[in-house]
Amino acid sequence: MRISRRTALATGVSAALTGCSRQGYDAIVVGAGAFGAWTAEHLRRRSKSVLLVDQMGPANARASSGGESRMTRSAYGRDAIYTQMALASLREWKRLSERSALPLFHQCGVLFFFEQMVDYARDSFAVHQELDLPLQQLDNAQLKSRFPQINFDDVEFGLFEPDFGALMARRAVEELVARFAANGGEYILARAEPSAQPHEVLLDGRPERADAIIYACGPWLPKVFPEILGERIFVTRQEVAFIAPPDGDDNFSPGRLPGWADFNGGDLYYGFPNLEGRGFKIARDAHGGHFDPDTGDRRMSEEDASLLRAFAERRFPALAGRPFTEFRVCQYENSSNGDFLIDRHPTLANVFLLGGGSGHGFKHGPEVGRLMAELVLAGRAPDPRFSLATKTTAQAREVL
Ligand SMILES: Cc1cc2nc3c(=O)[nH]c(=O)nc-3n(C[C@H](O)[C@H](O)[C@H](O)COP(=O)(O)OP(=O)(O)OC[C@H]3O[C@@H](n4cnc5c(N)ncnc54)[C@H](O)[C@@H]3O)c2cc1C
Repeated sequence: MRISRRTALATGVSAALTGCSRQGYDAIVVGAGAFGAWTAEHLRRRSKSVLLVDQMGPANARASSGGESRMTRSAYGRDAIYTQMALASLREWKRLSERSALPLFHQCGVLFFFEQMVDYARDSFAVHQELDLPLQQLDNAQLKSRFPQINFDDVEFGLFEPDFGALMARRAVEELVARFAANGGEYILARAEPSAQPHEVLLDGRPERADAIIYACGPWLPKVFPEILGERIFVTRQEVAFIAPPDGDDNFSPGRLPGWADFNGGDLYYGFPNLEGRGFKIARDAHGGHFDPDTGDRRMSEEDASLLRAFAERRFPALAGRPFTEFRVCQYENSSNGDFLIDRHPTLANVFLLGGGSGHGFKHGPEVGRLMAELVLAGRAPDPRFSLATKTTAQAREVL
């Protein structure tokens, strides 16, 4: 790595650009979502000079990391690699949360429930036993007495993770980037484009140099690298709604209601308790149609609002007739099977590709960033399932 100047607080675009067009950075990270911000932070912790760039701001309203809340959990069926990553990442999120003025993590627990024993649940228990991690199995009677606000009529059992819960997504990324900048990293607002020159990226059209350039562009990755990723990252429309719980009823507060997901046949629905008074969250995890993160219509459709309401009223009877408080349309940036992309660019020297969060990436931000930093600094490739070579052009979700 070239020795370049250490930078102090990001005080603005001009200071960063003028200084570094002559000298260059150790690394430039494009994209200040959960993946890019943690990568920048891990590189900074290893005393590298790092410029983090975003076209609209950390965890902005169009970014996949820009939502109110994201679930963190360790149950991943047989995919122990994600169980371990979630656990390691949670330690980082908690440390960040402890230093933040407002909470970034709510340990409300996570409850998955099933109409019968399925491989996913069986494998989750096996992995947790093997790794000596807590994962409670609750039968129907236990579920009913512990969570009376949920209708468990067709449910055989639940799987409860007491140590996990909700990350306050947008706030967490903003806090991370603020701390990154306060500790010597630089952050600027700019639109980045790959350059034909090695070690160069164009920031709002101006060339900037770095030893390593990491593109963590979330759902924009297929647009930034259309030849390589245009058919390997599938960007889908996802809809989320919030419902006001009954006034004065604390059955929907964290502590009484955990983060939850309903695995009963058909589509998977999931949500959160009434976190910080924003309302009960509900979403459907099925992949929607293709979505353009720049131009896609972010208004909720009547059809989807009705689906969410019908589900909420059946499973959470006290929500019948309660008003929606908010809708959000976001996008998943799915890889072919749901595994992340953490790899080098196949032809451009010192260019790296990071993405494929696939609707479950947020919680793993700290570990994803660490793995990318190790690849950049030590050439240590992560597990082969995160390689570009494993990303096919057929969308066949496997990781849940
Ligand atoms: C509705 C919804 C629910 C989800 N639920 C969960 C959950 O419960 N748990 C969980 O773990 N995960 C969840 N996820 C997935 C998770 O949010 C994403 O996997 C993760 O946030 C992706 O982060 P990212 O950094 O890769 O992308 P992003 O957050 O999209 O960040 C990419 C950034 O790159 C910037 N950028 C792009 N192109 C350029 C450019 N050319 N120049 C400069 N900047 C650029 C963008 O502005 C953006 O800020 C959910 C996602 C959605 C949409």
